[in-house]
Amino acid sequence: MNHEPLAELSFDSLAIHAGQDPDPSTGAVIPPLHVSSTFLQDGIGNLRAGYEYGRGANPTRTALQVQVAALEGARHAYSFGSGLAAEDALLRAALSPGDVVLIGNDAYGGTYRLLSRVWGPWGVKVRVVDTGDVAAVEAAIAEHASRIVWVETPSNPLLNITDITQIAGLGRAAGAWVVVDNTFASPALQRPLALGADVVVHSATKYLGGHSDVVGGVLALNDEELAEKVGFVQFAVGAVSGPHDAWLTTRGLKTLPVRMERHSASAFALARHLEADTRVERVYYPGLASHPGHQVAAKQMSAFGGIVSLALGTADRARRFAEATRLFALAESLGGVESLVNYPDAMTHASVRGTPLAVPDDVVRLSVGLEAVGDLADDIDRALEAV
Ligand code: PLP
Repeated sequence: MNHEPLAELSFDSLAIHAGQDPDPSTGAVIPPLHVSSTFLQDGIGNLRAGYEYGRGANPTRTALQVQVAALEGARHAYSFGSGLAAEDALLRAALSPGDVVLIGNDAYGGTYRLLSRVWGPWGVKVRVVDTGDVAAVEAAIAEHASRIVWVETPSNPLLNITDITQIAGLGRAAGAWVVVDNTFASPALQRPLALGADVVVHSATKYLGGHSDVVGGVLALNDEELAEKVGFVQFAVGAVSGPHDAWLTTRGLKTLPVRMERHSASAFALARHLEADTRVERVYYPGLASHPGHQVAAKQMSAFGGIVSLALGTADRARRFAEATRLFALAESLGGVESLVNYPDAMTHASVRGTPLAVPDDVVRLSVGLEAVGDLADDIDRALEAV
């Protein structure tokens, strides 16, 4: 299939058209959802369109992978059954026993758990560093000869910012893969490969899917050798996304640019609203001038995203706030059209309590959805009354 003309399209058009060619046999404008686990062969090994068995390849998964590659500006993309499955596939492809992975001190707790508790026993070593501090990363790479530098920016849940260009330069000089978890920004706001990173990883469960109805993950990368290894792991291990999930993600991606614009505008408005409230001790949002990573975020992101975290001084006040909102539903996850509130210490980040990645217990994370921002502000004000 020839995708050449798409190269000239802008991001918003690619979101709708990349990998989404009309069905050649019926003319259906929306590519069909291919649920078949196997494909007819016209003689042994004589495949009609290269498809043989669903774990190896499926047309709906291909449609998603082409779309993701176009949006991240990558030559290759691979889709998996969850964000952690995507991360695990990358680690299998890139690491050998004895290798060191350098990871940010505010990365998603599940990523740290995967590295320390699944990969640790197989001989992989994890070292934690503040990736926002370029000198600290340089020193850590020199000390530990790292195979991977794992960056999450903005990070979950404290919205710390890492300068991707600078860390990519350090990684290149040291022969380490620089991996960026782009879940919070999405390619609509930040494209790490263009900034020099080697691999982008996403929990597609979040903004890519965008409607809280899919669990998925993707990798996007350019290096041919590493891509071949990732493709082999996808096939040989088989943690692939199912066709229904892949199809829902392709549908979600079509509105990604529009959703991210609105998520970002509403989150920025609510961050300002919270910053003006004396009952709130601290607001974490990279769009605010008070955020220590604001300058770097403004350089590498086109808007600041839909997540706002706030500190309320004590665990008790934070827990009361999280249980008092009504429009912000108390639930894990983020990035959907509906607003969610999460208490990281006991919910999403409970697994990193007592580690260098522990989240302060007075912090609450808000995933700002697409509801009317006035209604969301009213809900926050009502919850603040209750703390
Ligand atoms: N990366 C980030 C930043 C996340 O927030 C998450 C999940 O919350 C993951 C990775 C893991 O993705 P999944 O839950 O789809 O496995």
